[in-house]
Amino acid sequence: MDKRHHRFETRAVHAGMSGLRESGAHVPPIDFSTTYPLPDVDNGGQAYEELATGHDLGPGRSAVYQRLWQPGVARFEDALADLEATEGAVAFASGMAALAACLIATATAGKPHVVAVRPLYGGTDHVLEKGLLGTTVTWAAADEIAAAIRPDTGLVVVETPANPTLELLDLAEVVAAAGDVPVLVDNTFATPVLQQPARHGATLVLHSATKYLGGHGDVMGGVVATTQEWVQRLRQVRALTGGLLHPMAAYLLHRGLRTLPLRVRAQQQTAQVLAERISAHHAVARVFYPGLPGQDPKGLLGTQLDGPGSIIAVELAGGYDAAARFTESCELIEHAVSLGGIDSLVQHPASLTHRPVSGPAKPGAGIVRLSIGLEHVDDLTDDILVALAAADALTSVDAAAMPTDAAHAARFADAR
Ligand SMILES: *Cc1c(COP(=O)(O)O)cnc(C)c1O
Repeated sequence: MDKRHHRFETRAVHAGMSGLRESGAHVPPIDFSTTYPLPDVDNGGQAYEELATGHDLGPGRSAVYQRLWQPGVARFEDALADLEATEGAVAFASGMAALAACLIATATAGKPHVVAVRPLYGGTDHVLEKGLLGTTVTWAAADEIAAAIRPDTGLVVVETPANPTLELLDLAEVVAAAGDVPVLVDNTFATPVLQQPARHGATLVLHSATKYLGGHGDVMGGVVATTQEWVQRLRQVRALTGGLLHPMAAYLLHRGLRTLPLRVRAQQQTAQVLAERISAHHAVARVFYPGLPGQDPKGLLGTQLDGPGSIIAVELAGGYDAAARFTESCELIEHAVSLGGIDSLVQHPASLTHRPVSGPAKPGAGIVRLSIGLEHVDDLTDDILVALAAADALTSVDAAAMPTDAAHAARFADAR
């Protein structure tokens, strides 16, 4: 049955499950085999040849070796490709392993020049700036992409909404400016629930699956949804460099997809309320959130992007000291890196995720990034108000009068 006509929520639950019912199973079995029986020498050799050059597992063929093919990983890839509306997908050990494969494939195809738009995830910025994988980079604003393209440009890299300050890019404009050069969009923040970049012409759609796709802070992975041609190239890179997704991780990520639409929309609803509440606080200089007035100048919400998501960046009026105090004063919201899970997290990008980012591209020292989870909006509000009061106490004249720590402790003694 062709399931592509089903609605997104239905596909999120059922994608990548083909053949299960016939096999007598209800959920995908987890196969930990590192190697697979070979029926005979000819079949083994041909299967190896096909898989090592990036082709699908043929009917009646042995999977040969886990680095070449893994059935649970293939199921997760099918599911993600379905949700991103691409021909296929290739999964990796982490988001950075996925990006590395894209850059290696680009550098080794004779077009090692990359045009990239900041801000990007800190690790992406770092690997491009260092040229660690044989690429060179030209940093460009969105309206400078066309001018930055050269004959040896092999890739355009963008992120929208961007990490950590949620800038939005018009993907149709980016793709038009890139011309024949493939565009890679890091879609980690939006997820396919809110944005499907391939529908706007992107060739490569990258996820840190560690974030929303897994969604529970207990699995690392990365995945690139793309065309059949790129699937083949990326599988070859994966087979030879070994940045594999583990079968257990593939199972958990595939399971994560089934609740993805529900989680993303519920977390987003809470984030919208919190962003509005935080904006009104006098200790806050600025809130970065696409769902606030004036923060979607190109009108992309409701067209390209179906909602503002659940990441909020907050600039404290008191700068670095206030930001540090804020992160340390959150209790319910854990001070930890990462994002997109069911539990809310807070971190300080300039000193952590964006530490290696150089110069003016580094996020401001007063900015903290909140990832909003599934807790009750009023409990999160309480936690944030206590942390804002603590941050504010640093800059207020009557700082000594602020009973922040005691109030904080009392509030959470009650809450637990
Ligand atoms: C976390 C993250 C990455 C890197 O992914 P890992 O799974 O940590 O390797 C890339 N892009 C974005 C936007 C991220 O948030």
